[in-house]
Amino acid sequence: MRFKSIKGTKDILPEESYRWQFVEQTIRTVMHTFNYREIRTPIFEETALFARGIGELTDIVGKEMYTFQDRGGSSLTLKPEMTAAVMRSYLQYNLGEQQPLVKVYYIAPMFRQERPQAGRLRQFHQFGAEAIGGKQPAVDAEIIALSAEVYRTLGVRNFDVKINSVGCENCRPAYKEKLQKHLKNIVGKLSEESQKRFEQNPLRILDSKNENDQVLTQDAPLMKDHLCQECSSHFAELQKVLASLEIKFSVDGRIVRGLDYYTKTAYEIISKDLGSQDALVGGGRYDLLLKELGGKQTPSVGFAAGIERLLVAMEKNKAYCGNEHNPTVFIASADETGRSWSLAKAMEFRRRGISCDVDTLNRSLKSQMREADRQRVKYVIIIGQNELSSEQVSVKDMTTGEQTTIMIDELITYIERGVGKHEQRKTGQN
Ligand code: AMP
Repeated sequence: MRFKSIKGTKDILPEESYRWQFVEQTIRTVMHTFNYREIRTPIFEETALFARGIGELTDIVGKEMYTFQDRGGSSLTLKPEMTAAVMRSYLQYNLGEQQPLVKVYYIAPMFRQERPQAGRLRQFHQFGAEAIGGKQPAVDAEIIALSAEVYRTLGVRNFDVKINSVGCENCRPAYKEKLQKHLKNIVGKLSEESQKRFEQNPLRILDSKNENDQVLTQDAPLMKDHLCQECSSHFAELQKVLASLEIKFSVDGRIVRGLDYYTKTAYEIISKDLGSQDALVGGGRYDLLLKELGGKQTPSVGFAAGIERLLVAMEKNKAYCGNEHNPTVFIASADETGRSWSLAKAMEFRRRGISCDVDTLNRSLKSQMREADRQRVKYVIIIGQNELSSEQVSVKDMTTGEQTTIMIDELITYIERGVGKHEQRKTGQN
């Protein structure tokens, strides 16, 4: 085969797409119960938006973006995350004018040129939410609760919520200096990655995945112990609200979103089931981001979560992932007369909302029965010249194996009644 999908990308094949649909539908339902509405933005944006909105010093902007020039010479980038795009849209359409707190969610593919490995793709999918316009800790708590609720609803039980505060423009500079002073003597022994971060972004050294870095920075001062009055009471209030919502969490002083416009709350939801790429959700507050993008300072908080990792976590938790879309009815034709009848009848079933398949490959009756079996249909209708002459068809219930003879003009009612029973059995009502 000459063509293959690009390294780090994946096809979602027909036999697994039902799981994606189920997960996406559940995410939408949970989002709507929290009164978040969907926002969809283009797949690409001006490169400068991400450089500004994510930060030149991040891995994403520094080395992972899919950036290209279009024929007009503009530099464009496939979106590596959604927050900057949502903020661009918020500013462009003045969404804040309509209501004081704008609550939006998204489900979309993201693109990052990372080294492909388990849990890291180059095109992956995120769902997430942003609450724009609220500085109160209750908004942070709602975002955390919302993200956790998606996992709970989807049957993922084994996860931990870790929260931290990264301070603000008032308390962080002094802390940053203190941290640099502490790290000065050991910086030469840190990983190359951490050494690069020492000058501009030393907070990120604290969340290094490198074990040696972790040991060396064991006694480093933490931002959460150097918060100003405002950040400190915001953090305390957040914990109070989370506790009142019965959301289990722990404080982890090493969780950082190390950019200057990230403020106060930073959090992650991690799962021990996931191996080294254990983060399900990353989120936090970014009160200074809108200003950075040219808007008014507007307190905002949000999260982003990977759908591929959510599916892995669901599998590990043996969670229900929806049902495959098998047709309800298969009409098998015994001869040519039956075949043309079956095509028209199939349309009638479909228009009544009953999924129906039919043989279009002129297969033998035996091979049609095998096909129906393979597709795990609920009913097979067998039709041919004899059945049409006697105005009776035989219907096989594939769940029980029972075969019944039905008058042709009662066929649809019979199947509809049967489908109703199947539905009741599935939902446990009788
Ligand atoms: P981030 O935007 O980097 O904070 O990532 C938020 C979430 O998106 C992570 O916790 C993961 O669940 C997911 N994620 C990020 N990068 C990737 C990737 N390359 N492949 C798959 N999932 C990813």
